[in-house]
Amino acid sequence: MSSIRAVRGVRDILPSEARRWQRVEAAARQTFEAYGYDEIRLPLFERTELFARGIGDETDIVKKEMYSFDDRSGESLTLRPEATASLMRAYIEHGLQVLPKPIKLYTMGPMFRYERPQAGRYRQFHQLDVEALGEPHPALDAEVIAMLLDFFGGLGLADRLELHVNSIGDPRTRSAYTALLVAYLEPLKAQLCGQCRERLARNPLRVLDCKVPECQPVIERAPSILDSLPPEAREHFETVRAGLDAMAIAYTVDPRLVRGLDYYVRTTFELKTKDLGAQDAVAGGGRYDGLIKQLGGPPDPGIGFAVGIERVVLLLAQAEDSAFVQRGPRVALIPLGEAALRRLLPVARSARRQGLSLELGYGARKLPRELERANRLGVRWAVIVGDNELAKDEAVLREMVSGEQRRLPLGRLVDELRTLGQAPAHGEEGR
Ligand code: ATP
Ligand code: MG
Repeated sequence: MSSIRAVRGVRDILPSEARRWQRVEAAARQTFEAYGYDEIRLPLFERTELFARGIGDETDIVKKEMYSFDDRSGESLTLRPEATASLMRAYIEHGLQVLPKPIKLYTMGPMFRYERPQAGRYRQFHQLDVEALGEPHPALDAEVIAMLLDFFGGLGLADRLELHVNSIGDPRTRSAYTALLVAYLEPLKAQLCGQCRERLARNPLRVLDCKVPECQPVIERAPSILDSLPPEAREHFETVRAGLDAMAIAYTVDPRLVRGLDYYVRTTFELKTKDLGAQDAVAGGGRYDGLIKQLGGPPDPGIGFAVGIERVVLLLAQAEDSAFVQRGPRVALIPLGEAALRRLLPVARSARRQGLSLELGYGARKLPRELERANRLGVRWAVIVGDNELAKDEAVLREMVSGEQRRLPLGRLVDELRTLGQAPAHGEEGR
């Protein structure tokens, strides 16, 4: 019989990689909570209508990337392609606007998009998602961007990223720019990809977000949206920039940065890296002041960003030096025979309940095999109890690297291991 394989574009995160994911998640929680953000956990699927209305009908996501299906009652549901729309739905549904503003929330988990799978691009992928709601002040924009950078700083990745920022104005006043853009693009139509020709008719701003190489020369020479900003949007953007400058945050202003979702207004930003080839966007976000109202809620403004965790993990893997030691169990308890096993079972349990990570042999293998296994696990100390030791209620404590051994009473073993456990292992300093 043939074996069943995972679905295309979907991957398993094996234990060796899961350590990095834990590091990313822990760094995220630490940074976000320092800025006063609380976690919210959201469902993985929603009514299809939520994304159609929230993200925009003309976006790539809604047009061709959603995993939609009818459930058994005939209702159209969609696996979430991003978290912002779901979070807004929850905000409205639970009346979270009564909380003191800005309401600061984060969430993390899988997203689903039917895309062409390649390195750094999957059909089930994961994001960290952060949203701050109910506060229009541009200082919040700068603060959110600073938090994003601090998260990467906490992982030692800050110097591998470039911050790009832009302002795309307000929906009502954006029409002036759209007219300019159409006037510029119309004569060059023949040089655009088929999809951009369609976008030109229905949602011209989307052309700026096209990734097709043949469209890039045309996009690069397009008029700058910054020249069409209405005074309030211009002032907002200047205050955001002043905030970034005050924190000595370096950035590039990129007037083509419109982002892939329709709900953005004013500030947009992206973190890019040169280290991941074509998949260069590691995080992106912006303001979406009209979205909550558009979804049937109060007219509260919002700003947020999403980080692609797979891409962060790829960067981390590149950054890690080869001396990186997996943090497996530090101690192996090796009973030689049944009686020694029975003596060590409660010792192991007590040590583990005190937070020590240890491996327990089951008494059936010979000592050389057990030591070989301990070696492969990268264990630092082995505790060996054979019949001789048992008779004296003692154990042999062996340091695996040096092979040095000493005896100690079994009654003192857990305390001794706790003391030893505090000392860093080779290559583990500072992690
Ligand atoms: P891209 O330009 O790479 O398609 P995007 O603009 O579609 O990204 P967003 O929807 O803003 O991305 O999502 C934020 C982040 O999520 C991206 O910067 C990226 O790191 C990550 N991401 C998006 N799509 C995928 C995917 N299919 N697989 C892995 N990560 C992804
Ligand atoms: Mg995309």
